Parts: sequence; C-alpha cells; structure tokens
Amino acid sequence: MHKALKSAGRDVGDCQLVAVSKNQDWDVIEPVLKAGHRVFGENRVQEAMSRWGDKKEAYPDLKLHLIGPLQSNKAAEAVAFFDVIETLDREKIARAVADEMMTQNRTPDLYIQVNIGEEAQKSGIMPLEADDFIHFCQSELKLKIMGLMCIPPIEGAHGSYFALLRKIAHRNGLNSLSMGMSDDYETAIAFGATSVRVGSAIFGSR
Ligand SMILES: *Cc1c(COP(=O)(O)O)cnc(C)c1O
Repeated sequence: MHKALKSAGRDVGDCQLVAVSKNQDWDVIEPVLKAGHRVFGENRVQEAMSRWGDKKEAYPDLKLHLIGPLQSNKAAEAVAFFDVIETLDREKIARAVADEMMTQNRTPDLYIQVNIGEEAQKSGIMPLEADDFIHFCQSELKLKIMGLMCIPPIEGAHGSYFALLRKIAHRNGLNSLSMGMSDDYETAIAFGATSVRVGSAIFGSR
C-alpha cells in the first residue's frame, strides 16, 4: 500500500486498510490484531457478531466494517454492532438503517455501494441511479454519507470502474472511496481509494 501510495504521489497515510476477516480462522486473525491492526471487514452480520462480539471489550478501539449486503431485518443488529456500514444500496435498507440510528442513538459511518459494472448478480445501486439515491439518503433521511464503495467485475480493466466511482463521488461532494481488494488494491490506490478491503492477501485463501 505504501509503495502504491507513493507512486501515486499520495501520502502513505492517505489510505486505510480494512482487513477482511470473513471466513477466516481465529488463528490467522489474532496475530494481525496482536500486531496492532484494528480495522476489520466482515460480510455477514451474524458471523461478525460471533467472531468479534466478545473481543470488543478487550479491544475498545476495534473498528468493524460491514462490507456485505444488508437485509432490513438485520438493520437493528448491524447498526448496534458495526462502526461502519458500507453497503447501503436501496431505499428500504437506507430507511431501516436511518430508523435504527435514530432509535438506538448510534451513528455508524455510512457508505453507499454502487454496482459499478451493472452486474445482475451484484448488489449496489446502479451508476445512473446513484446521484438520486445519494440525494435521497442525505435530504430525505438526513443521513451523513461518507462515500462510495464498489466491487468491480472480475473481468476487465478495474481502473475504469474505479475512475467512474470516483467521478460519481466527487460530483456529489463525497470524498471517501472504498475500493480495491487483494488483486487490485494498487490500481484502486492509483485511482484515489481512501480505503482498501483486503482479505486473502493478508490471511491466505478462504
Ligand atoms: C471478501 C471481500 C473482500 C476481500 O477480498 P480478497 O480478494 O480476499 O481481498 C473485499 N470486499 C468485499 C465486499 C468482500 O466480500
């Protein structure tokens, strides 16, 4: 990451590492935690709660990111448990999260997921609907949106997808970009990622 940031002419502290611990054994997660890393990503609410629930007390500076799709019946648990929710992608879920934030008086950081390659099987708001959805979250639901998140298609040049995500973010006044995984975090950093979500390159394959 430092190398990629430097060659992009960015400061080495300019991009955060979200270590994706989903499906990993505690044996491989613990050394990373012991080494001082505190920011982890999980893609399922239940799995995250069982893995991290009893660690929060010992590591009060732990920051847990929800990076997988959210169902509205899990909104209460997600709001209660996560520090960052990266996957708002439709009105129903945004509304459920907003209601829970109000009820629980909690304010996790929020990202909107964009289906940047317009793939049928992927979650995320479509690029053409992103401006309206961002505006809806901000104006209607009074949510503070930090930025955008995407998972580009496996095939193809990821740089063009990252550039598109950045363009949508910037024209909406959003500065945070969660993009880049084990195979493409360097490209994502070159295109302005402010956080990368890396699993297998840290922990090994799942
Ligand atoms: C699993 C996952 C990652 C990490 O993928 P790796 O290729 O193991 O780095 C990143 N983002 C999301 C949304 C994921 O589900």
